[in-house]
Amino acid sequence: MTDVPFWNREVETAERSRLQQLQLQRLKGIIGWALRTPFYKRRLSQAGINSPDDVRSLQDLQRVPFTTKDDLRQNFPKGLLAVDMREVVRIHSSSGTTGIPTVIYFTRDDIDNWTDLLARSITGTGAGVGDVFQNMMSYGLFTGGLGLHYGAERVGMTVIPIGGGNTKRQIQTMKDFQTTILHITPSYLLHVHSRLGEDGIFRKDLALRKAFIGAEPHSENTRRKIQDLLQIEAYNSYGLSELNGPGVAFECVCRKDMHVWEDAYIAEVIDPKTGEVLKDGQEGELVLTNLVRCAMPMLRYRTRDLAFLHPEGCDCGRTHRRLSRILGRTDDMLIINGVNVFPSQIEEKIMKIPEVATNYQIHVDKKGALDRLTVKVEIYPKLFLGEVAVLEALRNKIREDLQASITIAPIVELHEPGSLPVSEGKAKRVVDDRPKD
Ligand code: AMP
Ligand code: ZN
Repeated sequence: MTDVPFWNREVETAERSRLQQLQLQRLKGIIGWALRTPFYKRRLSQAGINSPDDVRSLQDLQRVPFTTKDDLRQNFPKGLLAVDMREVVRIHSSSGTTGIPTVIYFTRDDIDNWTDLLARSITGTGAGVGDVFQNMMSYGLFTGGLGLHYGAERVGMTVIPIGGGNTKRQIQTMKDFQTTILHITPSYLLHVHSRLGEDGIFRKDLALRKAFIGAEPHSENTRRKIQDLLQIEAYNSYGLSELNGPGVAFECVCRKDMHVWEDAYIAEVIDPKTGEVLKDGQEGELVLTNLVRCAMPMLRYRTRDLAFLHPEGCDCGRTHRRLSRILGRTDDMLIINGVNVFPSQIEEKIMKIPEVATNYQIHVDKKGALDRLTVKVEIYPKLFLGEVAVLEALRNKIREDLQASITIAPIVELHEPGSLPVSEGKAKRVVDDRPKD
């Protein structure tokens, strides 16, 4: 293929053997950093790894036990921190978690390396100097906003750090600054499309070329729909805060699944039941090890995301393997408009409210292009005899309590006891009515 844009051609097209050499060298380095944390010191010594030299080949990684989100929670806040806090320049957290968060630390070098991966990802899509980049992901503790922001500045795009929400303003901004590139969740992009024309601004008034879409699962059909409706190229972007955030894997100009940056991450796909490492092409749970983050090294992190790695190369000439789109989850995490929500977070909150009886249901569907979360709770009958204002106050309280925990405000419905479905076996608390196109 001609005209393939590279940020770092040497690394991106390195021979596999050279890449693996680099991975081994960096793996040893990261084991060294991990051994500085109380958590990994314990874990690794149980596996007979007490120094970087105990890892002699990439195969040896399989001796390292998996790390899970629970490990992060149980060792909150500093059990996985490998440096002095004075060296930490930034903290991020997983979206949707305000309970016991999974906190991620970055040194200045970590931010620099992460930014470079994003600059590489952005360049790989053909975006760069001269582009106007409207970053419609939320800023703050969520890694999506700031991550791409830094990468976009590094490649020299003009960055508009507008963040999420306020659709009218988004569309006006696209017109005023003739935005060419968007970073956005696929559901929000479809919603934005449905609002075009409301204020007399139509597609023809905009200069859009490309969108980076991620943070939530979506199908190839959704990508096509976005591309057709908006007449743009849409690139899938994958990442998770535990492994920095966006920039773990990104599509290149070929748009045939995402290159995992293998000089910065080791990707494995395992059988989620047995933990056995699967071959390329086989679907399973993605497990990631980061090779270049020293503040908080992450070894064999179980992402709970289901995917597979392509066995063959890519027409662009990059040698880094491609990851399929995310095909599902091995846990019950819901992703609602890009925000991660665990049903257990909802249960924990509502069961603390004395007026709430024992049965509840979490319902997710679509309103237009966006996801909609409704929490239905049964309350004690005597409450229905009181004033409407009392019920309204209770509904508001439940909504606010939930928002404080999951960061998004659900619709709350109050029901009489016995009115929500009960199942005889395992309770079916979550009903997800979103279409599976
Ligand atoms: P967070 O840690 O808040 O950034 O959330 C990370 C999770 O979001 C991942 O583990 C995935 O489940 C999901 N996610 C991120 N990017 C994508 C994507 N492109 N496609 C599907 N799911 C994604
Ligand atoms: Zn490629």
